Amino acid sequence: MSIRRLDDVTIGQIAAGEIVERPASVVKELVENALDAGATRVTVALERGGVDSIEVVDDGAGIAPEDLPLAVRRHATSKLASAADLESIGTLGFRGEGLASIAAVARLEVLSRIAGAEVGARIEAHGDEAGAVEPAAAPAGTRVRAAALFENVPVRREYLRSPSAEFNRISSWLASFALAYPSVTFTLRHDGKDVWVMPATADPRERLAMVFGREAARALLPLDPAGARSLDGALRGYISEPGSDRGDRRMQLLFVNGRLLRSTLLAGAWTAGYATFAMTGRHPYGALMLELPPDHVDPNVHPTKSDVRLRYGTQVFDAVRRALSSTLQAHAAARFVQHAVPGVSLAPPNGAASVARSDSLFGESGADGEAAPARAAMRVLGQVDCTYILASDGESLLLVDQHAAHERIAYESIVARAQERAPSEPLLVPLSIELDPVRSAALDRALELLLEGGMEIEHFGERSYRIVATPAGYGARSFDLAGFLDDLTEDPKQRDVRERIWASLACHSVTVAGERLQPQEMSTLVERLQTCANPMHCPHGRPTMVRLGPLEIARMFKRV
Ligand code: ADP
Ligand code: MG
Repeated sequence: MSIRRLDDVTIGQIAAGEIVERPASVVKELVENALDAGATRVTVALERGGVDSIEVVDDGAGIAPEDLPLAVRRHATSKLASAADLESIGTLGFRGEGLASIAAVARLEVLSRIAGAEVGARIEAHGDEAGAVEPAAAPAGTRVRAAALFENVPVRREYLRSPSAEFNRISSWLASFALAYPSVTFTLRHDGKDVWVMPATADPRERLAMVFGREAARALLPLDPAGARSLDGALRGYISEPGSDRGDRRMQLLFVNGRLLRSTLLAGAWTAGYATFAMTGRHPYGALMLELPPDHVDPNVHPTKSDVRLRYGTQVFDAVRRALSSTLQAHAAARFVQHAVPGVSLAPPNGAASVARSDSLFGESGADGEAAPARAAMRVLGQVDCTYILASDGESLLLVDQHAAHERIAYESIVARAQERAPSEPLLVPLSIELDPVRSAALDRALELLLEGGMEIEHFGERSYRIVATPAGYGARSFDLAGFLDDLTEDPKQRDVRERIWASLACHSVTVAGERLQPQEMSTLVERLQTCANPMHCPHGRPTMVRLGPLEIARMFKRV
């Protein structure tokens, strides 16, 4: 076949294919247009999941009648004047392709009136043809309707899911998107009924509850803005507290300059920020809103603008990670204060591992009211099932998981030691091992970091190693080398290598469940746990202790 130029209808459909994949893409384009026009109310009305009809009504600036033919044409926009403007985009749209792409695959009608004009006007467009502009009565603002989606593109129609699945997709996208626009009222209608309304609100909690569900929203912590001080811009958000999580990342919502998008880079920052706070294989949820100078963000890398390129990606990654982890540390410290015992020193031995536990932090949580009544020091009552330590502070009953607790203590001292490069404890008889190629490669990569953590392993011969020294204080316990190496080879992308190695080092060098402990050992464990920066969770995010307060106990005995 010889080379031919495509006709305009085909060109239009190919271009539209990138932008309009399903009803939700149409809703996205139209809602973004409404917000670019400064709307304070946006109503989305759908018929049959948007397949039959999608209507978006706004009270924004409107379109002048003489501009309507241009608005529905490809590459016509009021948002860019020159190529230079592409360097710093301040609106959600900018390519002038939204309406034209929708017209290419649906019957489009735009009805609009600019504030102050007596009458409005309407235009219809379908394929690459647009009708004449006609005067029409209309409220101030714009109503765009897209009917019979993909009627002329049967292949696309076949890829659509059921109307209710398409509807759900739109509903959850719109609700999530609304998180970044609290001053705008959003309404969603389906088949003639109001499905939900999000009134303009100053209280983000209401919208969070709608997006994440009441229960999950209660576990959201406001992000500590101080954590992102280094950022050239601003970071706000809500993140789930440790222990509340999901099986996937879908509920990690990310906004960059008001755009709801996915970013592989920043998904990594979630993982890094929660290192040692999240259980392996589980994912925290929440919403992060990042505001960056427009010229630091390039949204022109994806047809639906669902990913962006960041000019200073590494700095942004670090700022997000730090903001997450400092929020989690402050939360852990504050929670522990409520559980802690007056009289037992909370001052950590060396500052390094406990930067978050500043005085102001303790001051704040103390000011929360709940001035704890003077309680006796924490007393170990005994061991249960060779696995848990039963303790009491005279008021509450505490069940401490001996392995998780020991792991947390070991982890924090390994981190602190790595920061100081303190000596490790030489083994009297070095332990020699021979490894298979996979484990050997994994160990080679980790040797340097292990040394920082106090674990000294020498490589001699091809795949032979000698453990020369272990982290001081833990040398006496047999180090579970096999388990440790399995951890190293497994799933290397899951978290920051450094933290993973340390967590794993901690895990395999401490007390295990099922080990009988002496009373003195238990007291030391409980005492040292109290000096940890994050005493509530082991480095893998499992709880280290549960607490039964007087009220809970009273309830069990039906006293209240
Ligand atoms: P873009 O959003 O990239 O500019 P669109 O095709 O989505 O491209 O819209 C084309 C133009 O039509 C916009 O630049 C804007 O001037 C106008 N427009 C579209 N929708 C609206 C609306 N809801 N309110 C006001 N103007 C609109
Ligand atoms: Mg647009």
